[in-house]
Amino acid sequence: MTGNTLIKAERAGVAFFQFAQLTAFSELSHQVFTRRGGSSPPPFNDLNVAFSVGDRPETVRDNRRQVAMAGDYRYMVYAHQVHGTDILVYTGSLPAAALSGTPRSGDALITDIPGLALVVQVADCQAILLYDPVRRVVANVHSGWRGSIENIAGKTVAAMQRQFGCRGRDMTAAIAPSLGPCCAEFIHYRDEIPEKFWKYKLNGNYFDFWRISQDQLVDAGLRLENIQAGEMCTRCRPDYFYSYRGEARHTGRFAAVIGMRADGVR
Ligand SMILES: [Zn+2]
Repeated sequence: MTGNTLIKAERAGVAFFQFAQLTAFSELSHQVFTRRGGSSPPPFNDLNVAFSVGDRPETVRDNRRQVAMAGDYRYMVYAHQVHGTDILVYTGSLPAAALSGTPRSGDALITDIPGLALVVQVADCQAILLYDPVRRVVANVHSGWRGSIENIAGKTVAAMQRQFGCRGRDMTAAIAPSLGPCCAEFIHYRDEIPEKFWKYKLNGNYFDFWRISQDQLVDAGLRLENIQAGEMCTRCRPDYFYSYRGEARHTGRFAAVIGMRADGVR
């Protein structure tokens, strides 16, 4: 796993992070937005993209427009995330969810449609961006601790293999800023986390979920050198990110986005 690969960039007045390894693909577009650059009031300040947290819907719509402009996206699909393992696959024509804004329930999104961007909304949970440059398929996975336990990352890779003929060894993965081992304390881990994950426990009931995702992706067939972790902890960086734990559960969600360009090139 390669760390410290985040590049800071800005477009249309909105700052975001990018993974060096993903920027190497000119047909690909991706951003990890921060909480900066939007218009939400506290405690959602500023660029909250989630309707479900109590922010004003008009403001969230404005923020989503900001994100679309900064990423130069025309069609974006957001899911209704439920900490489950349902995988939404978009192929063929543009999905109604992208055109109407009505979300479907699911925690991973896959598409082979150029010009369609997939969004995951997070505050401590991992967004895992996946790309297969051979089959030209992208995915975006929402993996909180429940998703990690259910191995939604591995299940998404398997779905890409099944449905699009992708091969794990061709894929690149990037784990967006999320709750790090410095802050992922699970006091009740004996009740909450299955024993097979206890090997990821560090001193004092802290777990390394970045490492769990890395191992799950390797088990799914990815090469270790093709997996990047942002290695920025959301709880340690409230200046950039929302943190569900750090802000007493009352906060916004930032957007992690990936899609293939409609014109195939930058
Ligand atoms: Zn931390």
